[in-house]
Amino acid sequence: MGSQGFSRRGLLKGALATGGAAATATVLGGCQQAPRSPNVPSKWDKEADVVVVGGGGTGCAAAMSAAEAGAKVILLEVAPALGGSSALCVGSVTAPLSKMQKDQGIQDSIEDYMEDILHATGANASRVDKDMLQLLAETSGPAIDWLAGLGVQFAGPYEYPGHHRVNRMHMLVPNSAAWRKVLQPKMQEMGVEILLQTKGAELYRDVNNRVLGVKAMDTTTNKAIAIKAKKAVILATASTEAATAYKKKITTPDIAEMPAANPNNDGSGLMMAAALGADLTMLDAWGSPGLRTNLPGPNVSSTGKQAWMPFGIMDAGAILVNNEGHRFVNEKGATDDIALAVQAQTGKICHMVFDSQVAEIFNKWPMVVSSHPDKGDVSGIGGWGLVDDFVARNGIKVAKTIEELAAAVKVEPAGLKATIEQWNNYCQEGKDPDFKRTTFGHAEAKTVGAGIKTPPFYVHSPIRVQIILADVTLMVNTKLQVLDVFGNVIKGLYAGGETGHGNLYLSGHGTHMAWSFASGRLAGTNAAAEES
Ligand SMILES: Cc1cc2nc3c(=O)[nH]c(=O)nc-3n(C[C@H](O)[C@H](O)[C@H](O)COP(=O)(O)OP(=O)(O)OC[C@H]3O[C@@H](n4cnc5c(N)ncnc54)[C@H](O)[C@@H]3O)c2cc1C
Repeated sequence: MGSQGFSRRGLLKGALATGGAAATATVLGGCQQAPRSPNVPSKWDKEADVVVVGGGGTGCAAAMSAAEAGAKVILLEVAPALGGSSALCVGSVTAPLSKMQKDQGIQDSIEDYMEDILHATGANASRVDKDMLQLLAETSGPAIDWLAGLGVQFAGPYEYPGHHRVNRMHMLVPNSAAWRKVLQPKMQEMGVEILLQTKGAELYRDVNNRVLGVKAMDTTTNKAIAIKAKKAVILATASTEAATAYKKKITTPDIAEMPAANPNNDGSGLMMAAALGADLTMLDAWGSPGLRTNLPGPNVSSTGKQAWMPFGIMDAGAILVNNEGHRFVNEKGATDDIALAVQAQTGKICHMVFDSQVAEIFNKWPMVVSSHPDKGDVSGIGGWGLVDDFVARNGIKVAKTIEELAAAVKVEPAGLKATIEQWNNYCQEGKDPDFKRTTFGHAEAKTVGAGIKTPPFYVHSPIRVQIILADVTLMVNTKLQVLDVFGNVIKGLYAGGETGHGNLYLSGHGTHMAWSFASGRLAGTNAAAEES
C-alpha cells in the first residue's frame, strides 16, 4: 500500500495525485510534542488488550476483529444498545470486489472504483487522500465478505448510475440493524466485554503521550471507571453531528442546534484525541441539516435529486406544507433556509404534496424519490425507492381528494385545499408572491404550470430536519493510527469510521458504511497486533 504503489499503476495524474495525509507528514515531519506530565489513574478498575470506544458499525467491527486476532477486548457504548447511526441508516454499503459481485460475474477493479469515487467527489477530488481511498477500495469488499461469512445478510449489489460504472451497492437486509443482530452475540461468544451506558471521557497517557487506557463514565451511576488498554484504544465514536457547542464556533446557533439522527454522536471521541494533540481535518464537513422522512425502519431522504436525474420531485412540482396545510418556504431555496423554516413549524415537521402526474414520473427507474432501505417492495430496486415502494411501506399516502389526503396525515383540510388552489394559480401565472419560488414544474417533466390538479394526490410525510452524519475527523495513517498535529503517530491510539478517515472524502450512497466496516475491521486487527 502507499502512494508510490498507486502512482506506479498510473491511475491518478496531475493535481489529483496529492494526498492530504502525506502532505501533512512531509511539511511537519520531525516536529515532536513537548513531554507532558503523565495522566495515569491511581488504580485500574478493568483491563483488556484493546479498548474500543463507541459501539456502532466501526466499533463493533473493530471489537470483533480484535477478538478474532486473540485480543481481550472491552467495548464501551454510551447508549443503552449497540448500533449507533450504523443501525439507523438506510443500509447501503458500496464497495468493489466482494464475493457477491464476483459470483455475479461483475468485472470490477480497485482502479475503476477509485476513478469513479474521485469523479463523484467533483470539486473536492483534489483534496482526497489517495492512499486512504486506495485503502477503502482494497478493504471494503473483503469487509462485506467477512460480515457475510459471519452471517450478516446483504442483497445486491445494485446499480448506482452516474457514480459507479458497475453494480457495487450492497444492501443490508432486512434493514441496517442486520449486522448488529449477528455481531453482538458473536462478540459475546468471543468474550468481548460490552459495557453499555458507559461513556468514554478521557484518554490516559504516559509521559511520551503513549495511550494507556480510557477513563469511562458509567452514565447510570455517574461513577468513573479506569480501564487499562495493554495494547491500544480504538476510537469509533462517529463525528460532530450532535456536537452543538463545537458547531456554534463554525455556524449560527440555530443551525448548530438542529437535531442529529443520533444525539449520542457529540464529538466526544474527537475531543478526547484532540486533548492529546491529535490533528483534526475536514473541518468544513461539520454536519449540516437535511430533510428526512421516517419510514417504518431507517430514515430516508425526501427531497434529494440524485446525480443522474435531470430533475428531482420538487423541481417537477411538489410543494411543502405545514400541519395547517400552508406553504411556509421557497421549496427550491437553500437547504439551511428550508431546514430553519421547518424547525419553525408546528411539531417541527412538514409534508410533501404532489399529484399523479408527478407520481407517474417518479415511478419509473431511474427517476427515484430518494434512497430507500432494503429492496423496494414494488420495484425490487435496491437502495433506491420509487413512489409505489414508499406507498407500500406507508411512507407516502395516496387519496382521491385533497381533503382525504389531508386527513391521512392530520393536516388541516381547509388549509391544504386553499393552499393548493392558490399554488395552482401561481403555477399558471408563473409567480410566487409569497416565497418567490421561480420554478413551477419542469420542462422535461412536462409539468410547467401544471400545478397539483390530477388525482389521485400524494403526500410524503412526516418530513423532519435531521443531521445524519458529519465528516470532521482525525488524521490517521493507512494503519488507522491517529496522528498528532505534527504528523507523528500517537502510540496506542487508533480510529476508524467517521472518527478516523483523514482526508478521505466519502462521496455518495454507501461509502460511509463501507468505510465503517472496513476501517473498524482493520483498526481492530492492527490494534490486536500491537505489543502489550
Ligand atoms: C438516517 C441515516 C441514513 C444513512 N444512510 C446511510 C447509508 O445507507 N449508507 C451509508 O454508507 N451511510 C449512511 N449513513 C451514514 C452512516 O450511517 C454513518 O456515517 C456511519 O454509520 C458511521 O459509523 P460509525 O461507526 O462511525 O458511527 P456510529 O455507527 O454512529 O457509531 C458511533 C457510536 O459511538 C457511540 N458514542 C459516541 N460517543 C461516545 C463516547 N464518548 N463513548 C462511548 N460511546 C460513544 C454512539 O452512541 C454510537 O453508537 C446514514 C446515516 C443516517 C443517520
